[in-house]
Amino acid sequence: MFNASNPHLPGTDLKVWLDGKIVPMEEAKISVFDHGVLYGDGVFEGIRAYNGKVFQMEAHMRRLYQGAGAICLQIPIGKEAFEKAIYDTLEANNLNNAYIRAVVTRGAGYLGLHPGKTANPSVFIITAGLALYPLELYEKGMPIITASTIRNHPHAVSAQVKSLNYLNNIMAQIEATQAGVVEAVMLNHEGYVAECTGDNIFIVRKGELLTPPPSAGILEGVTRAVVMELAKRRGIAVHEKNMTRHDLYVADECFLTGTGAEIMPITHIDQRQIGCGKIGVMTRQLLEDFWACTKGQIDVQV
Ligand code: PMP
Repeated sequence: MFNASNPHLPGTDLKVWLDGKIVPMEEAKISVFDHGVLYGDGVFEGIRAYNGKVFQMEAHMRRLYQGAGAICLQIPIGKEAFEKAIYDTLEANNLNNAYIRAVVTRGAGYLGLHPGKTANPSVFIITAGLALYPLELYEKGMPIITASTIRNHPHAVSAQVKSLNYLNNIMAQIEATQAGVVEAVMLNHEGYVAECTGDNIFIVRKGELLTPPPSAGILEGVTRAVVMELAKRRGIAVHEKNMTRHDLYVADECFLTGTGAEIMPITHIDQRQIGCGKIGVMTRQLLEDFWACTKGQIDVQV
């Protein structure tokens, strides 16, 4: 979600939380021997704050600590201290509405994969003003493609671990950019739809909501969980189901969910028009509910 219109680019007075201290961005540096840099050994979260409140903090913290636990990485501070550090960083940057990047690396050590070669894990938190999709895109929707890069095998590193190695997704993102679109849907090793490079995917078929199951090798997005709950509250049936690319092509509606994108309507996939070619009725209802959620008008905790 970062782009050139981001107000917090280098040269501004952005402040970063790094290992217990809030420092100017120029001083926020980690070692070239950090295993996060050398091996992508670490985990991260992408979070949003709306009107000064961190959205779904608990769910993001749960995923961060569970992901770290799964790779035997001990986060050096507890959840409460982490949450406070996030709020402190927002305050130091005078931000009420922001994108928050929380990162935990294995820490600096020496060459060699073994985590025992590192000493102290590093934690840093970057908060940034938001480079949002233009509002009209939520009305008009956007096109995506299917990438030829498949999603990582779910029996390799679990997609639930938001690890510092995102090359799988970056490969698909390059395909999207080369095709002139901003997102690409990735299939899994069995040819079923998995997810996009930084978003989950949903379709609407005969009034019901379908999305791939975790076993398809997807990250169980926080936004995905919120949307599933909002749909249920509206009495919409939600199914986690394996889908083929054909299922996407013939869907009545399609949308993506993610912390940055929120709910983004999809109008074309591989140049096939989806539904009416603009935001669908159910997508609009869910988007309105989601925005009400971010304003605290609907209470959902996932
Ligand atoms: N899938 C992937 C691969 C992602 O990186 C993200 C963004 N974190 C998502 C889905 C959406 O997850 P969330 O709603 O938690 O942002």
